[in-house]
Amino acid sequence: MQRRKFLARSMAGGMAVGLGAAAQPARGAQSSSGRSSDLPSTFTPAAHSLPHSQYSPFTTPDYFTFADDLAIERNLPNKPHQGKVLAAIQAHSDDIPLFAAGTVAKLIDEGYTGYLIRLSNDEASGTTLGHGVVQNEADIQEAAKAMGLKKTYSFYYRNHRMDDNAAIEIRARLIFLFRMLQVNTIFAMDPYDHYDENPDHIVAGKAVEGACWMSGGAKDYPEHYKAGLKPAHIHEKYYHARSPQGHNLVNRVVDIGSYIDHKVRTNMANKGKGPAGTAGARLRQQLARQGKKLPLLGNDDETANFGYVKHFLMDDFQLLGRRFGLEYAEAFRYIGPEPNYLGNIVKYAEEHAVPL
Ligand SMILES: [Zn+2]
Repeated sequence: MQRRKFLARSMAGGMAVGLGAAAQPARGAQSSSGRSSDLPSTFTPAAHSLPHSQYSPFTTPDYFTFADDLAIERNLPNKPHQGKVLAAIQAHSDDIPLFAAGTVAKLIDEGYTGYLIRLSNDEASGTTLGHGVVQNEADIQEAAKAMGLKKTYSFYYRNHRMDDNAAIEIRARLIFLFRMLQVNTIFAMDPYDHYDENPDHIVAGKAVEGACWMSGGAKDYPEHYKAGLKPAHIHEKYYHARSPQGHNLVNRVVDIGSYIDHKVRTNMANKGKGPAGTAGARLRQQLARQGKKLPLLGNDDETANFGYVKHFLMDDFQLLGRRFGLEYAEAFRYIGPEPNYLGNIVKYAEEHAVPL
């Protein structure tokens, strides 16, 4: 489907592309609260409310604004990303797993080598602060494996206090890693994550944004080059939203239907933080004490954890996907490679220059 035609249908039909009749919100009733819109017909909606399963407070934002050049990224055969490097950067151990793990796993499967970079120490979860640090340190190793990532790095800034650190230090450490790993593509929290109450997310997004640009600079941290590092040219950026009450600009929707089980297992690895971990096993045991069971939780803890994450926590990504005719989807503000400006000018000059 042509993109502009798609958008026209979307605007007229409440983003109902590919949506089954049962799940399709009626015109004017697409609010996540189920309330009908009071917007007069003389106005064109500027943001689209997303339906929510009401099973997880952490997944898709309340509103997206969709760009008119929105593209759906689908599976690519023959490992087209062989030789490229991605870095998935997160403030906390559950950020990339919840919002981008399907797309990260997809790109790794399509040839990328990948690294996970965590900025906080995740102390604000766990039974005590110290337990939170240790548990999340172990969890990110397993989460990285589930996505197919090669190695993890942690900066250990204090959780929910990241704005207490100098932005320039966080950025400089990222620049070092981007150059050392020769990163081409990043995943991170949207630096303009509207209405996000978690202060670490904005700090992380802004640090990544600046580091992406400066990593390619010849004059920034020139001692890196004396030590043998090379500039990193980051040509692709996938910024994801988090803010539950948020409103984010989206120009890329990724089909993660083939990678939903990777995403489920990545979230199951997060035992110390987030809504997944061992929640399924706990619910199964609680029901068993009452002499009951939920069939989707199966007959053992592993099956219960998998079923819980897939059935409850992935539902919002299924609802998002259905709007685009996909089984499951993740949404991004994607920034791709810039044109070769100087090359284009040289080419123009070669084609149009006339004798003196
Ligand atoms: Zn977070």
